[in-house]
Amino acid sequence: MSTPGPGPQQAAAAEKEEIRVLFVGGDEGDVSLFRALLEGDRPRFVVDHVSSLPQAFERLERNQADVLVLDVGEGHTEALTGLSQTRVRHPLVPVVVLADTDHAGLANRALEAGARGYLVRCALSQGFVVWSLLHAIRNQRIFVELNIARERARQLATYDQLTGLANRSLFADRLDQAVSSARRNRHTLAVLFIDLDHFKLVNDTLGHVAGDALLRSTAQRIGSCLRKSDTGARLGGDEFAVLVTHLSSPSDAEQIAEKLLDLIRKPVRLRTGDRVVSASIGIATFPHHGTDAEALLKASDSAMYHAKSAGRDRYAVYAEDMYEEASDRTSLEYRLRDALEGGELALHYQPVVDVVRGRVVGAEALIRWRHPELGLVLPAEFLRIAEDSNLIIPIGEWVIRTACEQAAAWQEMGHKGFRIAVNVSPQQFQPDDFVTRVNEVLEDTGLRPESLELELTERSLLHDTRRTLAQFSALKRLGVRISIDDFGTGYSALAYLKQLPVDVLKIDQSFIRALTTDPADATITQTVVQLARALNLATIGEGVETVEQMQLLASFGCSRMQGFLFGEATDATSFEYLLTAPNFWWMADDEDAAGAPTL
Ligand code: C2E
Ligand code: MG
Ligand code: MG
Repeated sequence: MSTPGPGPQQAAAAEKEEIRVLFVGGDEGDVSLFRALLEGDRPRFVVDHVSSLPQAFERLERNQADVLVLDVGEGHTEALTGLSQTRVRHPLVPVVVLADTDHAGLANRALEAGARGYLVRCALSQGFVVWSLLHAIRNQRIFVELNIARERARQLATYDQLTGLANRSLFADRLDQAVSSARRNRHTLAVLFIDLDHFKLVNDTLGHVAGDALLRSTAQRIGSCLRKSDTGARLGGDEFAVLVTHLSSPSDAEQIAEKLLDLIRKPVRLRTGDRVVSASIGIATFPHHGTDAEALLKASDSAMYHAKSAGRDRYAVYAEDMYEEASDRTSLEYRLRDALEGGELALHYQPVVDVVRGRVVGAEALIRWRHPELGLVLPAEFLRIAEDSNLIIPIGEWVIRTACEQAAAWQEMGHKGFRIAVNVSPQQFQPDDFVTRVNEVLEDTGLRPESLELELTERSLLHDTRRTLAQFSALKRLGVRISIDDFGTGYSALAYLKQLPVDVLKIDQSFIRALTTDPADATITQTVVQLARALNLATIGEGVETVEQMQLLASFGCSRMQGFLFGEATDATSFEYLLTAPNFWWMADDEDAAGAPTL
C-alpha cells in the first residue's frame, strides 16, 4: 500500500532559508513584478518561470519547486483545468492561483479544487504575497500529514500489521462485495482457508521472532500467487485466507491450492537455519458451498480441518458432512480438556515379552479415554486434537507420571527388571524443561531411569535436529532409554541413527503383518534387525499376531516382541494377572507349555 508521504522538500520548505517558487504562465513582466514583491532577506524566494503546464510538470518531476504559482489571467476554465491537472500529477506540491480579477466564485472553486491560496493581481502587496506562499506551504504540509494519519488509521483497521495482508474485517468486506457481484454476474468465486501445519511447534521451539518471520514469509508466498483482483488475508494466528474471484470453473481453485501448497513447502530461511513447513487448505466455492460470505468462510474452515485430519500438507474441497466434523472437533477439544481434569483418561498396558527368556519384560503404556457416552476411545480419535491444541503437554506429563508410578509399584511387587515404555509426541518433547520434568517424575516415583523407555516416532527427528540431539543427550545422561517407534515408516533417519543416543528400534507392525507372506517385508525386517545389531541397538517387533510371525522374527534375532498374540493392552489390574501368571504357552522352555510352538 503506497502512502503519499510529503516530499521532504515540501514538508520542510516553510522552515527553509530558500523557497523555490515556480511561476507558471504570464509573461516576463508579471514574473518580474512577482520577484520584486518577494524580495527580502528571510526567507529568500527564488522565482523560476515557465510558460506552460507541461514545462512546469517537467520541473516538478525533478523536484525543482516548493510551491507553484499558477497565473491564470482572466481565464476561469483554464484556471481550474490547470489546477486539477497539477493536483493529479503532483498532489504534494501546493498551488497558489494568481488571477486578474477578484472573483469570489472562482476563488472558491479554486480552493475547493485544491488550491492553497488565491491572489489577485491588482491587489498584490509584498507582505500578503509572502504570507500567502508560506501559508500555502504550511497548509499543504498539514493536509499531507492529515492524509498520512488517515491512511495509517485505515491501515490499522483493515490490514494485518505483521504481514501487510488484509485483516479479517477487510477480508469479510471484500468477500461480501465479491459475493454480491458474483451473484449479479453469475460468476464463480472461491475462498481458500489456509492453516500452517504444526505452527505452534515452531513458535514454541524457535521463539516468536522465528514464528513471525515464518508468518511473513508465508504471507509473501501467498501474495505472490494472487492476481490483482484476488485478496489475501491473515485471519489471525497462523490462519490465512485467499479470495479468488472470476473463476472459470471451481477446479481452478484446486490448482491455486496446489500452487500454494508447493510454495509453502519450500524451505524458509530463518536465523536458526532452514525450516520446512506445510499447510492444510480448505476450499469452498460460490454458489456451490455457500451463498453468503459467512457460510463460505465457515465451509472453507471445515474443509481445512478435513485436510488436516486427512494427514495435513494437502487441500480438501468442502463437502456437506465436513461442517459437522469441524464442530465435532471443537467440542471434542473442550471435552478432552475436561477429561484430563475429570480423570477420564486412563492408561492401558500392553505386555512386551522376551520370547527367548520366556518372560514378560515390560509393558507399553497406551492412553485411553473412558468417555461417559462413547465408551473406551482409542488414541487415534483424540491424540491429533491434543497435539494441535497443545493439550498434549499436560496430557503427556500425566501419562509419564502415571506410567512411572505404576511401573515403580510393579517393581516393588518383585518384578525387578520391569521396564515401562511411554509414547512421546514431538510437541511434548520440545519445551526446554522436558528433561527436567522427566527427572522430577523419576525422583518423585523412585523409578530407576533405565526402567523408563521413551518412544519417539521418526516424526520427532524431523524437527530441529540440533535441538533434538541435545534433548536426547540430556535424557541419555539421565539414564533414560530411548526407542524409535514405528521404525521404517517415517523418513527413515538412518543417517541420524549413528549420531543419536538411541537404544531400541521398534519395527513397525506394517512390516510384521506381511512378514510370512511378503518376502520383501521379511527382508526389510531382517535387515533392520541386522542393522540394529551392528549399531548395538535392541529391537522390538510390534504387532505380532501369529505364531509364524513370532517364529520368523525370533529366527532373525529379534526376541523382544509385542502384539495381540501375547496380549492386548489392558487396564492395570488385568495386566497384573498376566504379570503374576506362573507361565505362558509361548514359554518354549517351560514344561507346562504343552503344545507351544518351538522357536
Ligand atoms: P504405538 O506406540 O505404535 O502403539 C502400538 C499400537 O498398536 C497400539 O494402538 C496397540 O494397541 C496396537 N497394537 C498392539 N499390538 C497389536 C497387534 O498385534 N495388532 C494390531 N493390529 N495392533 C496392535 P493404540 O493403543 O490405539 O495406540 C495407537 C498409537 O497412539 C500408538 O502407537 C502411539 O503412537 C499413540 N499413543 C498411544 N498412547 C499414547 C500416549 O500416551 N502418548 C502419545 N503421545 N501417544 C500415544
Ligand atoms: Mg509406541
Ligand atoms: Mg508403534
